[in-house]
Amino acid sequence: MVNSGGSEIRLTVSGPLPADTTEDVRARGAGVARQVAVLPVGSFEQHGPYLPLSTDTLIACAIAREVAAAFPVHLLPPVTISCSHEHAAWPGTVSISSVTLHAVVRDIADSLRRSGVDTLVLINGHGGNYVLGNVVQESSATGARMALFPAAEDWEAAREAAGVETSLLTDMHAGEIETSILLHTNPEFLKAGYETSDFVADDRRHLLSLGMSAYTKSGVIGRPSRASAGKGKELLASLAGSFGAYFSLLTSESEKDAVAAVAAAVPPVVDPH
Ligand SMILES: [Zn+2]
Repeated sequence: MVNSGGSEIRLTVSGPLPADTTEDVRARGAGVARQVAVLPVGSFEQHGPYLPLSTDTLIACAIAREVAAAFPVHLLPPVTISCSHEHAAWPGTVSISSVTLHAVVRDIADSLRRSGVDTLVLINGHGGNYVLGNVVQESSATGARMALFPAAEDWEAAREAAGVETSLLTDMHAGEIETSILLHTNPEFLKAGYETSDFVADDRRHLLSLGMSAYTKSGVIGRPSRASAGKGKELLASLAGSFGAYFSLLTSESEKDAVAAVAAAVPPVVDPH
C-alpha cells in the first residue's frame, strides 16, 4: 500500500491491539492531507454457548485490521465494553450507559483533533450501540468529520459476496456471519455447539422493552450451522472494499467533492420503465 506521499504504509498489528510507535504515526501522517483515525467499538456480551463474550470486539478489530491494511489510517485500540443492556439476563455481560459511550467517543475525537487527526471512523461490531449514530450526526453537523462503518448496506453487500445464506434480519446474533468471521480470525475462541444451535426469531418488535431473553433461551438468533471460515474471509474482504467510499468521502477537499465521491461509489439506479 502506498500513500499519496509515496511512502510505503506498513501495517503493524498484533491481535486486537495496534503495534504502532509514535514514529509510525508521524510517518503515516506526513504523507497525507487529512489523517483518518479508525476506532473499533466492540462489546462484552453473551454470544450463546459457543462464541466468546468478546465476539463483537474481535469482529470490530478484524474489520479495522483489514481496513488498515488497505488504507493509510491511524488504527486505534478498541472500546471493549459498550451498550449491551438487552443481553443483561445472561452471565458475563457487562455494559456502560449510552451517555458514557457517547462521552468516550467524543473525548477520543477531541483528543485526536488536538494532535492533528481531524477525522474519525467508528467501526462498530455491536448492533445495540444505537448512540453511535447520534455521535456521528452531531459531530458532522458541527463540521467535524466522522463516520460509522459498516452500514447495513455494506453488511448486505458483504453477505452477498460471501454467499451467506441467512438474511440480515434472521442472522441477528451469534449466527452465520459472526460465527463465520470468528472461524476465520479466531477459531481458538470457538467452542463446540454452533453446528446445532440454529434458532430463528424474525419478529422482535418488543426487543427494546423486553430484551433478548424474551426471544431466545440460548442467546442465539440466527443460523450458525451455516458458518464457515471461507465465508468469514470473504465477508472481511468485501467490507474492506466498501470502506473505499468512506475513505474518499472523508478525505475529500470539499463537501462538493464528498458528494461526488459518494455518487461515484454507488451504482446508478436503473429505471424499469
Ligand atoms: Zn455480536
